[in-house]
Parts: sequence; C-alpha cells; structure tokens
Amino acid sequence: MHGDETGGFVLMLHFADYLLKNYLVDSRVKNLVDNLEIWINPLANPDGTYQGGDIVSTPTRFNANGYDLNRNFPDPLDPNTVKQKETLDMMKFMRKHKFCLSANFHSGEEVVNYPWDRWLSKLHADDSWFHAISRSYADTAHVYAGSQYMNFLDDGVTRGAVWYLVYGGRQDYITWELHGREVTIEIDNQYITPAAQLATLWQNNWHSLIGYLENALYGIHGLVRNKTSLIPVAAKVFINGYDKDSSQVYCDTLTGSFVRFLEPGSWNLTFTAKGYMPVLISNVNVTSGQRTDLIVDMVPFPDSVDYPNSSNSLLLFPNPATNNLNAILPDTIAGNINVRIINQTGTLISDYSTQAIKSVPIIIDIKTLSSGIYTVVISNYNRSHISIGRFVVIK
Ligand SMILES: [Zn+2]
Repeated sequence: MHGDETGGFVLMLHFADYLLKNYLVDSRVKNLVDNLEIWINPLANPDGTYQGGDIVSTPTRFNANGYDLNRNFPDPLDPNTVKQKETLDMMKFMRKHKFCLSANFHSGEEVVNYPWDRWLSKLHADDSWFHAISRSYADTAHVYAGSQYMNFLDDGVTRGAVWYLVYGGRQDYITWELHGREVTIEIDNQYITPAAQLATLWQNNWHSLIGYLENALYGIHGLVRNKTSLIPVAAKVFINGYDKDSSQVYCDTLTGSFVRFLEPGSWNLTFTAKGYMPVLISNVNVTSGQRTDLIVDMVPFPDSVDYPNSSNSLLLFPNPATNNLNAILPDTIAGNINVRIINQTGTLISDYSTQAIKSVPIIIDIKTLSSGIYTVVISNYNRSHISIGRFVVIK
C-alpha cells in the first residue's frame, strides 16, 4: 500500500514463486496449497511505486492522488469517508473472497503489529491468539535471521495502538467489518530495501510466511446446514461471554462454512440464523496446531409462514399466533423502531415504539387482539426503512 516500502513487493513475488516451485518437494508447501485458497497481492499501490516511470526510481508512500492508502479504509466509527480507487477495488475484492486470515506488509520498522490500531483501551476478543501468531512470526524470523532482526518494541511484536494510533488502516477494516483476521508486518528498517539485500530479506522471512499461512489450517472449521434439507445456513457464530466488538464470525452464504481461530481450550459456540432455532454447541475442543471439524444442523422455526434466507425480509412466528408474535427484523431496521398493527378493515389497532436489536426477535403482545388477519408495519423511527408482514390470530 505504501509505494516506497518496496521490500514487501519483492518478498511476495518470491513467496508466490516458492509456493509454485516447491509443491512436489516441500510437504509443508503441498499441505498449504492442497488445503487453502491462497491469494497474493504483491503491490497494492502501483502508481506510488512507479511514480518515476517504468523502473522503480522515485517511489512515494502515497498514490497518484496523494492519498495514504493505509489511512483510506473505512474506520469502524467513521466508515463513510471518500475512498480512492485502489481502496474501493481492494474492499470489493476482500468482500468477495471473505479471507479468514491475511496480512499486509510494510517497511520502516521490523515488527508484527496486530489489532486494534484505532483503540488503545480496547483489546480484541482474540487478543491472545493474535499475540501468539505475531510472536510466532517474529520468533521464527529470529531463528533464521538472528535476534537483531525484527526486534522492535516487544521483541518484534506490538498491538497496533500501543505503538501509535491509526485510523482507516486495512487491518482494522478487515478485522472489524469483514470479521477476518489481519496483521500488519513491518519487514525492514529501511523503507527501500537495497537490491543486494532482497535475497537476505527473503531468507529472513520465508519460514515465518509459511508458518503464518499454516495458522489458517488450525482452529474450528465448521459447516452449518438445515437439518432436514441439508442446504447451507448463513449462520452467525458467536461465543457468549467472549466475543465483543465485532469479533464473531459468519458462515459463508453459499457454502455454510466458517472458520474460527481460537486459543487452545474448550469453547461454547452459539449459532443463530433467521428462521432457525438457535443452537448451542458446548465444549468444542481447540488444540494447538490442529484443526477441529464441526458440523452443525439447525432446525427451522416451527409454524413460520416461510423460511426466508435473506436478511432483507421480515420473519413472523408462530403464525398463526395466540398471545405473542415474534418478529425478526430485516437488518435495515434496528434501534428505535415503530410498530403499528392494522386490522382487515384498515383500522389502526395499536401504534407504539420499542427498541430492536439486530437478529434478535422482538416480541409483539397480541393478547388483546381477537381472531382474524392483521398487518404489522415495522419501521425505523425516521421511517427510512419500512417492513410489512401479515399474521393470523387464533383465540
Ligand atoms: Zn507502510
């Protein structure tokens, strides 16, 4: 991303070359290529690196418009700032592929930097896991490069904000908004690694790079499906009492698969999805350096009129209902909401405000309603989004 931090560019080209050439001779490479989908983007700011022309002569940190691309991603608290083309393209690419583990490379120091960059007082729920994979990268580099390499701050490891605060960095964007896990790896004290030192840079880092990718093989690798039809379910995977600040993960909408990296131990996972009964799976064991496979079958809510798989529809259940009606709202409707119930003749029967939490059903009291067919209109307080459903009351 920073066009004048050139070591990572060559390091990534070398890494791609190594993976391609060593599949048949290095079992670790074969294991990675057989079991992961690996994407390598050697250079995210070509205009900055090639500012001087067809050879790298006067590279700059910024893109051609003068923007620092690692301050240009959506900040968790200020997501709507103007984005450069390089950033928009990377966001689109990242959203499409939903990487479970990633890294971005820089120069100017020698340290592995993990989330959060923008909060000094907040620790990511997976802080100790992040620290462990960062420690492993730096420690492996020390084995091959010596202790004088990558020893900045805490011997080559830091939580981002402890070093300095960054807003709009890619690491926090991916970890916060895409529920991925990304670290920032500073590989050289010199911004521009001299050509004669590029081979050493590779020797210092390639074992660490292989080890970093291997982290993606570990943790919980799950599949969530409809118990009856076995179709994939796009469930939210949440650890009660542990997950916070967007640290939960979600299943892939097409395959129902998810990956959750965790420290070794015994974990209780809660699965929720629109139209399904929540599922709690207790005591899932995670072992260091091993993969835990998990298949979760979810049962649709009984009596619901339909089982929408889209987060844009209103789900009402049970339907017909007698005393209480549960409503799971579309994602566009949350916070302060307005609930109106209209009978078949178009008369407004009730009109009240309440609080809604995303993905959690609101309970509509229908004890006073007589048997019949009703329409419920649920909207944001400012009416920016409205959702309408019909339900039947039987007494
Ligand atoms: Zn940089």
